[in-house]
Amino acid sequence: MKPHKSEDLHVRDNELKYRLEMAAERQRVTSDAERHRLKEAHWMHCPKCGQKLATERFGSVDIDVCPSCKGLWLDSNELETIMADAAKTSFFQSCLKMLRG
Ligand SMILES: [Zn+2]
Repeated sequence: MKPHKSEDLHVRDNELKYRLEMAAERQRVTSDAERHRLKEAHWMHCPKCGQKLATERFGSVDIDVCPSCKGLWLDSNELETIMADAAKTSFFQSCLKMLRG
């Protein structure tokens, strides 16, 4: 018997929660020195192409943009802020216009 869709979502949510807890546990065992070394090596570099990110102001949020591959990177809670802004303004059209020149 196939599980109901809400049961599928519940199983998927529990799986995601478990994976995030395991990832957090792996990070807890990382030493402070290793965390510092990783931050020094990767801070404000594009996770896709490794180029230095630029910060651009969009509405009420500072977004990290890769000038090379045009990737956009958001800090925690910035997506929620953008979505709230988008409800009030044409935020996404402004982003696309800026990126496409
Ligand atoms: Zn990039």
